Amino acid sequence: MNIVILGVPGAGKGTQAKMLSERLKIPHISTGDIFRNAIKEGTELGKTAADHIEQGKLVPDDVTFGIVKGRIGEKDCKNGFLLDGFPRTMIQAEMLDSLLGETGRKVDIALNIDVPDAEVIDRISGRLVCPSCGANYHKKSNPPLEGGICRECSARVLQRKDDFYETVVKRIETYHLQTKPLISHYSDKGVIVTVNGTGDITGIHDRIMSEVRGHTR
Ligand code: ADP
Ligand code: AMP
Repeated sequence: MNIVILGVPGAGKGTQAKMLSERLKIPHISTGDIFRNAIKEGTELGKTAADHIEQGKLVPDDVTFGIVKGRIGEKDCKNGFLLDGFPRTMIQAEMLDSLLGETGRKVDIALNIDVPDAEVIDRISGRLVCPSCGANYHKKSNPPLEGGICRECSARVLQRKDDFYETVVKRIETYHLQTKPLISHYSDKGVIVTVNGTGDITGIHDRIMSEVRGHTR
């Protein structure tokens, strides 16, 4: 099954995608994680991405699509994939549709995690991530171990460089302008599934699973 996850920054896409990927046994592909790894490794892609990410802007469509095209062409994506944070523009959505169409595939579910902007600002300003394994925490609602230590791999967790207030406001604005229209795009194709993304993390996961099961029946 091919799933794309939509939602404002901080909606819980990464958190839910990790759980869903384990449950459905399909790879979790986060374009944000791919860019952050490239930045850490100091590659050319990392340099291009950093310029945009740190200003709260999107990385250009051709660069982002090239990455996704390569990744979903890998063997482990043959039985499906979970795209987290892609597509983020109408052009990316159209490029993805035509790429999948070439091999008779399509987006089966566009999962829209719905959370009000006011709540995501609080979530993002408390977000902590593990630079080593990518595990995701929140200062209050889902803290790491004492002293900021990752529960999965014992590395020290950090705040993302693009999670400071001014950048967050800019990213939310970018979402409303460029990404929100994708809800209508996937709704027209009959594949949109909107889930209330507020409340506890396991409750949201259960709601998502019941929608996914309903959609595949
Ligand atoms: P996204 O990938 O959509 O940007 P994340 O999954 O990184 O969002 O979640 C953003 C922040 O909110 C993280 O700190 C995460 O731990 C926290 N979070 C995720 N889901 C919830 C929830 N249901 N309630 C409260 N905080 C949450
Ligand atoms: P995320 O981890 O999904 O919040 O992504 C972090 C940042 O990476 C975003 O604010 C963008 O600058 C960039 N990014 C991630 N995915 C995309 C995409 N599909 N298109 C353009 N830029 C992206």
